[in-house]
Amino acid sequence: MNASVNPPDKLDDEWIARREDLRHRPARSDRRSLTHLLDPRQFDREFLDEMCDLTTDIRTLAKTREGLNALRSLLSHKRAMLYFTQPSTRTFLSFNNACHILGIRTSEIRDSSTSSEVKGESIEDSIRTFSSYVDVIIMRTAEKGLAQRAAQLLDTTPRPLPIINAGSGKDQHPTQALLDIYTLERSFSDSGGIDGKTIGMMGDLARGRTVRSLCYLMKNYRDVKLVFVAPHAFGMEPDIKQHLADHEIPFRETTELDAVLGDLDAIYVTRMQSEHDIDGESALVDLSRYSIGPEQLEKIKPSGVVMHPLPRGPELHPDVDNDPRAKYWRQERNGMWMRAAVLTKVFGAEREFYELCR
Ligand code: ASP
Repeated sequence: MNASVNPPDKLDDEWIARREDLRHRPARSDRRSLTHLLDPRQFDREFLDEMCDLTTDIRTLAKTREGLNALRSLLSHKRAMLYFTQPSTRTFLSFNNACHILGIRTSEIRDSSTSSEVKGESIEDSIRTFSSYVDVIIMRTAEKGLAQRAAQLLDTTPRPLPIINAGSGKDQHPTQALLDIYTLERSFSDSGGIDGKTIGMMGDLARGRTVRSLCYLMKNYRDVKLVFVAPHAFGMEPDIKQHLADHEIPFRETTELDAVLGDLDAIYVTRMQSEHDIDGESALVDLSRYSIGPEQLEKIKPSGVVMHPLPRGPELHPDVDNDPRAKYWRQERNGMWMRAAVLTKVFGAEREFYELCR
């Protein structure tokens, strides 16, 4: 289908250039289809660059009513299951809205006490049941590795539909890592992108899945340096440090934010993951030493970037919100566009998407 796309009332040069580029871009062959999206280690640089471009292209087409109407036809023959048995605001809403942008109809379970799991149904049987009704399963679970198990199970059935990991326990959050990469690349678009940058990660690095997933993606960028700022008890786990060492990605660890703040091109702030406490250990941390507020902003480079996967706690003062270096609201919105790109890719609908742009 063709959609003639009119520019919005207020044009900006970047938008016009992008639209023109989209109109003339040859339809890409689906270089590699994506069967399941489970772990950030499955992504290489080519894939990441391709996903960032696709995200921008979808975002660009969606700037007009005609574009949005066209997008809504792209996957209107598909249905998605959102199985979110762990709390979620942004990931749930952004996936849900990404589905709706692409015309995908959605079903959801947000609490296993409302499903037949409460009657003793195994998770395997539940997953197999979802596959009877939908074309993709997006799942957030407290248990590590469940998305992987679901994917392996479905691959042995006559309905091997794609599984997307939307956050697995303390372990991984691959689609968050994709949107974080996109946000970093956009934020550094005038200075060569992520390559060559020094990126700080601060907070509960031991139990934060977002930083773990983001670390996995760093091997795809040249000359990146990482700085981990965390109290000793919540430092980055050995498996991630080993991964960085294996890929020769330099990193250092410190408990002193002030000593490193001026060296960072980006600081990725995270909250204490107190839901994983066994004995109230989060409360023992002096969070004032691991926080960004107006005082710390003074020390951040003028070109610096402040990110946070949200939700925030006291580690990120609301007074930072209006500083141009604060990118976390843009980051959460980028999540919706990146997830629309993920769904487009999962369904191998890139070619159809570029047809819509003509
Ligand atoms: N929303 C992110 C996650 O689901 C970050 C967080 O909860 O701290 O992991």
